[in-house]
Amino acid sequence: MIPFNKPCLTGKETDYINEAVNSGKISGNGLFTQKCQSFFEKKYGFKKCLLTTSCTDALEMAAILCDIKPGDEVIIPSYTFVSTALAFIRQGAKIIFADSYESHPNIDASKIEKLISKKTKAIVPVHYAGVSCDMEMITTIAQKYNLYVIEDAAQAIDSFYKNRPLGSFGHLSTFSFHETKNIISGEGGMLVINDKSLIKRAEIIWEKGTNRAEFFRGEVNKYGWIDTGSSFLPSEIISAFLWAQIEKLDDLQNKRKRVYNQYSEALEKCNSALFHTPSIPEYATNNAHMYYLIFKNQESRASFISFLKKHQILSVFHYISLHKSPYYKDLYTGDELSNSDRFSDCLVRLPMYADLEENEVEYIIKVIKKYIESNESSF
Ligand SMILES: *Cc1c(COP(=O)(O)O)cnc(C)c1O
Repeated sequence: MIPFNKPCLTGKETDYINEAVNSGKISGNGLFTQKCQSFFEKKYGFKKCLLTTSCTDALEMAAILCDIKPGDEVIIPSYTFVSTALAFIRQGAKIIFADSYESHPNIDASKIEKLISKKTKAIVPVHYAGVSCDMEMITTIAQKYNLYVIEDAAQAIDSFYKNRPLGSFGHLSTFSFHETKNIISGEGGMLVINDKSLIKRAEIIWEKGTNRAEFFRGEVNKYGWIDTGSSFLPSEIISAFLWAQIEKLDDLQNKRKRVYNQYSEALEKCNSALFHTPSIPEYATNNAHMYYLIFKNQESRASFISFLKKHQILSVFHYISLHKSPYYKDLYTGDELSNSDRFSDCLVRLPMYADLEENEVEYIIKVIKKYIESNESSF
């Protein structure tokens, strides 16, 4: 069976974990954590980076940092992972779900303004498949209404909007290093703080509400409890793993892009009436996080998935619109979000990982062509 995802190791992971273990310091905020954080700060110009144990944790930190309180409203796309909403729900916020573009699962920026009320505190764009949202339009709206922008860049490492790195636009941005993402540490994530006025408090929330980070830098002579927070920081064992991945970021990205290009060259040429291939806006780059197809309806997608499965290929659908989830559906009072619902029903993701070999992709393409032949001829 060709799996949908396979974690790709660079070879140095266990060496660096050994190094961390032998150093005698395996709790958080040690050398590997700091190396990872400064790498991202330097490479992408992020003001301040803090590793977390997940992107979900980073989103929770963002919600705390923006002082989201009961009654506040936060605008997020409905077509996203549950964590995007969960972090704000835990603070008591009301989630205002926005629809996707017709042509792309990203939040339709032109529909955000009419969702804003006096209670709105933040907009949370999610860069689906690592493809940028319309950050110019979103930051302009946010400035006009004095709202926070929190980028959910979980899938968007090393991706750009008009040459500017994703994660550098939001007051706060969050990344994931879950094993399904482009660079990984099993579970893992990162909060990026671009708004300088939030950095000090972010460090405190990160370290259980204490100013321990300041203490370790010698900036204060004792540390104590001064704010809310939690234990959001990963151990050095996780950071050591991540460092091995970071060192090979370009390699990993090139391998993924090779897979993506092989899919897109072959499948676009098919020009099949059965599905659409991904479209990427001109302002966005492609970090090859994902390759997906969009079918006409749920039934044709299901038949495609089972056809691939019969040929030993695992393909998977993705999000169910959050406003239709069992948790939220009875609370939802907004409009129909027909594009989000269509992606819930019709989008399918093909196997995508750095170690997916050329001949395997060739085989997957061959099977898809066979599917096209047997289904188009039945018209
Ligand atoms: C993966 C993902 C998350 C959650 O990341 P974790 O590190 O698993 O918490 C959140 N949002 C989006 C868009 C994701 O793809």
